[in-house]
Amino acid sequence: MFNRRKFIKKSALTAGLFSFSGNLRALTQNNPSIIPPSPSQNNMKPIVISTWDFGVAANADAWKVLSTKGSCLDAVEKGVMVAEADEKNNSVGYGGLPDRDGIVTLDACIMDSDGNIGAVLALENIKHAICVARKVMEKTPHVMLAGKGAYQFALEQGFKTENLLTQESEKAWKEWLKNAKYNPVINSENKNYQNAAPEKLPGNQYNHDTIGMLALDVHGNIAGACTTSGMAFKLHGRIGDSPIIGAGLYIDNEIGGATSTGVGEEVVRNVGSFLVVELMRQGYSPQDACKEAVMRIIRKKPQTAKNIQVGFLALNKKGEYGAYAIQKGFSYAVCNENKQDLILPGKSYY
Ligand code: ASP
Repeated sequence: MFNRRKFIKKSALTAGLFSFSGNLRALTQNNPSIIPPSPSQNNMKPIVISTWDFGVAANADAWKVLSTKGSCLDAVEKGVMVAEADEKNNSVGYGGLPDRDGIVTLDACIMDSDGNIGAVLALENIKHAICVARKVMEKTPHVMLAGKGAYQFALEQGFKTENLLTQESEKAWKEWLKNAKYNPVINSENKNYQNAAPEKLPGNQYNHDTIGMLALDVHGNIAGACTTSGMAFKLHGRIGDSPIIGAGLYIDNEIGGATSTGVGEEVVRNVGSFLVVELMRQGYSPQDACKEAVMRIIRKKPQTAKNIQVGFLALNKKGEYGAYAIQKGFSYAVCNENKQDLILPGKSYY
């Protein structure tokens, strides 16, 4: 007997072999919740955005890649490497503040426009955690490597062992040990907006702050990277949001990308960056999406939120960007063909 349902299914499948995009178009026309992928284009105006003041220098290196028609993935990797190599930056890479036991541990992740991801967690003695994360993405069947395994993999990939604890960071840690109180300071990157007088901070450098970077290239593709030494003086083994895809970073090449900085525990609880991207999918502007993600944190834990910083940064596929933070003082850097700006203070709840 002729089975109509089977026939329809079979015909659809056969047709799909020849005209997948036609089918997808028809499907999405009938179902507005499915957004058709925006095809790669070749005449997009590239842009790169990243968190905090140190984003300016990082964007400049990313821009060298984007302005010569390079890929967004290469741009974000090269960009955040600047912050990782900067020993004056005490919250990312070399010179990052150590954990409670005096050990510098790095967290990083990267996501490309095809949805591929790679991350390293609690990596020790390797300066460019972001490059190891990219190798995890490209050279292994896995998405995350942690601790000793990540270190061993890095060595196998030719990375060299380095002591990441600078004299200055060691001094700050020893100073901290005198009271050993875990009390992160808001906005270490912007002394004017800290919640403690700078002179009370050991070495003026007592905190957290991550570089998260999002780039749109000339081909219309978007990628992101996020790298940090995490919260200063954290418990050994603590992981924040930064290497967790969906929390510290998320990219969807149909919609855009988002990244976060601040107290990672609250970002993980709310799967923050994924939330921002999903809100943009629903039609929110990048800034409104960041604001709503911040509001979720505030609504769920108003008392906690009063004393912590969390900031989100987002970029959509049209090249529109925005940010929002709980506290004043969250800065971010924007670079395109017309400008190289530091936005400070970005919009915030308080
Ligand atoms: N989000 C980072 C963490 O929790 C720190 C920061 O960005 O300030 O490890």
